[in-house]
This record gives sequence, C-alpha cells and structure tokens, in this order.
Amino acid sequence: GAKARGRGAWCFFNEDMTQAARERLELEARLRVALAQGHLQLYYQPQVDIATGRLVGAEALVRWIDPEEGVISPGRFIPVAESSGVIGQLGQWVIREACQQGQRWRDADLPEITLAVNISPRQFHLTDVAGCAAQALADSGFPPRCLEFELTETALAERPEEARQVLLRLQQLGLRTAVDDFGTGYSSLSYLKRYPIDVLKIDQGFIRDIPHNADDMAISAAIIAMGHSLGLQVLAEGVETAEQLAFLRERGCDAYQGYLYSRPLPAPEFTALLQQQAQMPA
Ligand code: C2E
Ligand code: MG
Ligand code: MG
Ligand code: MG
Repeated sequence: GAKARGRGAWCFFNEDMTQAARERLELEARLRVALAQGHLQLYYQPQVDIATGRLVGAEALVRWIDPEEGVISPGRFIPVAESSGVIGQLGQWVIREACQQGQRWRDADLPEITLAVNISPRQFHLTDVAGCAAQALADSGFPPRCLEFELTETALAERPEEARQVLLRLQQLGLRTAVDDFGTGYSSLSYLKRYPIDVLKIDQGFIRDIPHNADDMAISAAIIAMGHSLGLQVLAEGVETAEQLAFLRERGCDAYQGYLYSRPLPAPEFTALLQQQAQMPA
C-alpha cells in the first residue's frame, strides 16, 4: 500500500490505486459539488400510529438528485460522506432543511407531526449535533418536541460516556431520540437504562419475513415488550403487508412505517397527505 512505500510515494490517482478507490474519490468530489449546488433533497416517509391509523410523524431521508444520473440513493453516498468527513456539512444541511420544512407545515396549520432525522455514527461523534440542532430550531422556529434524532447502536456503543453526554444535551433541548435499526448492532442492552432514549425502531430485517418466520416474530414481540417495560415507544420499520401490521397491532406496537402505508415522498406529495389528514375527523 501507499504507506509501506513511505510518505513521498503517496499521491492521488496512483496507477495502482484500485478502481474502487478512484470511484470513491470521484463520488466524494461530486457529492461536495451537489451539496453546494443544492442537488440534495429530503424525502419524507410517513410514520403511522397503529392504534388510531393517524399520521404522527415522518422520517426525513436524503436523496441526491443528479442532473444526469437521476436519483442517487443514500446507501451509495452516505458511506462516502462518512469516510470522507463530508457528513459534517451534509448532516448539518439535513437538520436545517428538516426544521425549515417542518415549520412550513406548521405555518400552513397542518396537523402537528414529529420529524425524524438520521444521524450517522461519525456525524454523532465528530460534529456538535446538539449545537447544530439548537441553532436550526432557533433559526426556523420549529419546536424541539417535534424533532427526533435517530441514532444507531453503533454510534451509541462507541465512546459510551461521550455518547451519553450528547444524549443528555439533546434531552435538555427537548428533542426526542430513537435507536434506529434496533437489534442489528453488537451493543449490550445495558445502554438502554443508562441513556435517555424515547423510541426503539425495530429493524426491517425482523419484519420482512413475518408471518413466515417464527424467530423473527419472537424477536419483534420481545423488542415491543421490552421497550414498553422500559417506558419506550416502539416503531416497526419496513412494514409491507397487512399481515405484518396485524401482527404488530396484536403485540401492541405503537407505530409503523413502510411501503404498506407509503414510500418516502418528496415534500409536495407529503404536504398533500398532511392536507388529507387535516380533513379527517379526529
Ligand atoms: P434507515 O434510516 O434505516 O431508513 C430506512 C430505509 O428503509 C430507507 O431507505 C427507506 O426508504 C427504506 N424503506 C422504508 N420502508 C420500506 C419498506 O417497506 N420496505 C423496504 N424494503 N424498505 C423500506 P433509504 O431512504 O434508501 O435510506 C437508507 C439508509 O440511508 C437509511 O436507513 C439511513 O441509514 C441512511 N440515510 C438516509 N437518509 C439519511 C440522512 O439524511 N443522513 C444520514 N446520516 N443517513 C441517512
Ligand atoms: Mg432511519
Ligand atoms: Mg432503520
Ligand atoms: Mg438502515
């Protein structure tokens, strides 16, 4: 590798640099341009209260709309943003954009919802997410109770005392916190009692094969029961069928999101959904 050959040998686009590494650098450069030129957009996936069927929130999911390639999914560019450090700037944009959009919906007198924003591990540890939230809330007027930060077990397991301090600061600000992809990390469960957390999001991998996989059903039911015993809300991700929803309802799961109700939507389409909801009897 470059290191073995000494400092002087290091350069960009080295002949023997792998194709994959070159593509990564190129994607990183293009991502910086996309961010600067406003080619990122947030889509909003509805979160629904299982007991009432009402829309209670949305998860903001970033999309890169490339003039030539079209929509580029976050699965492709978030890892690049993470490893290159662009995640700091990108994450800040996401938080600010979600607060501004959320406040536009409030200004239009649409039903109050919670907006959930994804915070990736490196963003959580290397940038001041609480300070960024405070600033974005103050600038937009969006209320802290309506903003939720989704963190993964990976982010919480790394430097746990530091993670706890950030979570406490978020709680002081009045934000909600959720554990995303719950059950897929390698962390111990003890953090659940040490950290101020409001919501567990059951990973879609446990939902996918319900009702055909007894193990997944047992795990999902256990997460719901444990979450409730700890005083947490539980939301299921990736709900695609009526059978899955029926199972979750029977087990007392609080909320869900998934293609069954809706795919993530661009802001104007989500606005239409909120307008429909406003016309429904309470
Ligand atoms: P996630 O936070 O776990 O988001 C859920 C993913 O599942 C989303 O993919 C969503 O579109 C997809 N999904 C929702 N309902 C269903 C369903 O019923 N079936 C299936 N098969 N999939 C469903 P998406 O939007 O491609 O995002 C992928 C991941 O990228 C997210 O996983 C999150 O980790 C990351 N991501 C997205 N937006 C952001 C962002 O703004 N910042 C950061 N740091 N990460 C983001
Ligand atoms: Mg998420
Ligand atoms: Mg998830
Ligand atoms: Mg995920």
